[in-house]
Amino acid sequence: MSQSVCILGATGSIGQSTLKILQQHPGQYSVFAVTAHSRIAELVEICRQFRPKVAVVPSEKVSELQQLLKQSDLHHIEILSGEAGLISIAEHPEVDVVMAAIVGAAGLLPTLAAVKAGKRVLLANKEALVMSGDLMMQAAIDHQALLLPVDSEHNAIFQCLPADYLQAERNGQPKKGVSRLLLTASGGPFRNHTLDQLRQVTPAQACKHPNWSMGQKISVDSATLMNKGLELIEACHLFAISEHFVTVVVHPQSIIHSMVQYVDGSTLAQMGNPDMCTPIAHALAWPERIQTHVPPLDLFVNHQLDFQEPDTLRFPALKLAREAMKSGGLAPAVLNASNEIAVGAFLNNQIKFTDIPVVVEHTLNLLPNAAASSLDVILEADQKARLLAQQFVSSKGS
Ligand code: NAD
Ligand code: MG
Repeated sequence: MSQSVCILGATGSIGQSTLKILQQHPGQYSVFAVTAHSRIAELVEICRQFRPKVAVVPSEKVSELQQLLKQSDLHHIEILSGEAGLISIAEHPEVDVVMAAIVGAAGLLPTLAAVKAGKRVLLANKEALVMSGDLMMQAAIDHQALLLPVDSEHNAIFQCLPADYLQAERNGQPKKGVSRLLLTASGGPFRNHTLDQLRQVTPAQACKHPNWSMGQKISVDSATLMNKGLELIEACHLFAISEHFVTVVVHPQSIIHSMVQYVDGSTLAQMGNPDMCTPIAHALAWPERIQTHVPPLDLFVNHQLDFQEPDTLRFPALKLAREAMKSGGLAPAVLNASNEIAVGAFLNNQIKFTDIPVVVEHTLNLLPNAAASSLDVILEADQKARLLAQQFVSSKGS
């Protein structure tokens, strides 16, 4: 029977790749709902092609969507709006699979709603897990949701772990013969920049990743290495392992997407061309495999694989994230919120590239840490961190 898919963030880079795969397998999947935050014309084009039952946009975009759908003879598509709309499609009884591909904290509540409704959740929205860590993982257990990693590194690790790994006790220790996770990082576009050069980096340069084509926010995060920091936290939660057992390895070619080391001296790697269609297809079909348009790796062309240690002096964001994970509690949520503000300010030319980790560190130092005891406490910390980070950004600009 065909699986009914809800795509949160359909107009984004991950959303588009997801649609590309669904298009290749029309008998196996149907699109139930799609969402967009700003690019409404693109959403209408998606609606024209995929004929979903529901489309969700912010309330101020409803009339624009209504008009455009009407012009395209698509008035039968139900329009919902705002966070309530996102939540209602994420937990809708007709939905089997939810692709969580909204960027940033805005994806937390709908992703959590999908988990609590026991869906197969394809997790691209790493910020949601970084913020809510234990709470989301516990909700997945309690509601028997299948939380499958789409982030290429975590998907690679998932593929290299023993099949029953996640059924073992979640105690922070590696188990089933696993000794360590090796999280690979491309190093971003400024891997070889000096600190002086990093100070001069422009938003346009930061948004141009050498190996991957991605949304703006994650492109900047990849350039600061905050993306790897968020992924380190993501890995700790997904695989119930303490940060001490996760090593970040810079691998500029992005051919190995991450590795798992075992106590017998084995290191298993998942390799492939850098294209998000592979991890998306894997998470969609797991434990089966489905075809994608990604060409197989040609090792006679991609014959060189290099590895380096990350430099946390030039890229302090990675260290800040590791420390936040070590501190636990609300620190990862504060790290994430202040980073979202700092990245936004950098993209608006309000602060320098090298100020991004400064804003994050400043915010982490100002907010006393506490246990992430409930969703409300997490959301409050997120708001406070945003405010403090914003104040700091404004003071830097004046
Ligand atoms: P993107 O910027 O291309 O797309 C983001 C999507 O989220 C869009 O559909 C947009 O309409 C929606 N959105 C943005 N703000 C919103 C808001 N406030 N409320 C509701 N919807 C909103 O981003 P992307 O590159 O597709 O990344 C999406 C997520 O996947 C991010 O969390 C990112 O870290 C993660 N991810 C992306 C890649 C990649 O290759 N692009 C790889 C791994 C993980
Ligand atoms: Mg990644």
